[in-house]
Amino acid sequence: MRKLALFLLIFPLLWTAELKTRWADHKGFSRFVIEAPSPIQYSIGEYGEFFLQIILHGDHSIKPTPSVDSRIFSAVEAKRVEGGTLVLIRFRKSSLWKVFELQDPFRIVVDVRPRPQGRIMKYALRTVVLDPGHGGQEEGAVGRGGTKEKDLALTFCKELKVLLESRLGVRVILTRRDDSFLGLDERTAIANNAKADLFVSIHFNYSDDPTVKGPETYFLSSTATDRESRLLAYKENMGEITRAPNTDIGLILWDMAQNQYLYQSSKLAEAIQQELAAEIGVKNRGVKQAPFAVLMGATMPAVLVEVDFISNPEEEKLLNTPEYRRRLEEAILRGLKKYMGSLRR
Ligand SMILES: [Zn+2]
Repeated sequence: MRKLALFLLIFPLLWTAELKTRWADHKGFSRFVIEAPSPIQYSIGEYGEFFLQIILHGDHSIKPTPSVDSRIFSAVEAKRVEGGTLVLIRFRKSSLWKVFELQDPFRIVVDVRPRPQGRIMKYALRTVVLDPGHGGQEEGAVGRGGTKEKDLALTFCKELKVLLESRLGVRVILTRRDDSFLGLDERTAIANNAKADLFVSIHFNYSDDPTVKGPETYFLSSTATDRESRLLAYKENMGEITRAPNTDIGLILWDMAQNQYLYQSSKLAEAIQQELAAEIGVKNRGVKQAPFAVLMGATMPAVLVEVDFISNPEEEKLLNTPEYRRRLEEAILRGLKKYMGSLRR
């Protein structure tokens, strides 16, 4: 067993360039660095209190270190996965981490500090913030039959609030209760002030193709997965500056905060997407990542749900009936339950 693992670790070194790694203990934190001769793409994989995965995209490898001499890091493992190399960094104690990059030369930096006593991560869903998209002068999308996204989102969130409170026993806070305008920063500020455990922004989608229907669920990343996601992020950001990745210090700082929640946010997005797609009866095209300004400031797992397309006249008609909305709200409820179950495992 051990021999096989060792073989898997060493095998990639035969044909890929090895990146340099180093680590050091500092006052209050320890730093792990992966250095590359030129910028490389990477993403955060799964993580927990005692480990963090970083996936290096492309042909790279790093040398595994089974025993790291550090106050916080205990081991670094590496294995080849589809499309890249998975680097697993193990911690000696329950820790908090942040990942960021530095240039010249390109470095992926992982800063880790021990989790403060008494704040052991124990996930409970107590407070959910629902954010009805748009409002006031910001109408959002308008269906061919005249349905406004801002009105539908508000109705939907009010109904979903009742459903979640009665069936999950959670407290639900709406970012707006009427047709008023709310800035993007204000929306996440409400969630942060309420120390919410989840932030769910509710929207309805638009396409020039009237036959398109189905959900699109997003979690935040600093780069969009495709051109459509980027366009949508631009629209939903309502003209507020879409902070360009790697150029704006605000986004980098934010990224460090949201990285803590990336995995949970992606799990939540997947669960909601799957249930909504099944309910609307479309193929599940998976979750997407995009730089939504509305999700940026959230200090908790956060997703943006484009529940369905109001540009599809049939869906628009259905969405104006309480019965259909209820079915979609129940689907989101199932998604939340599934998400909570996945965290307990
Ligand atoms: Zn919207």
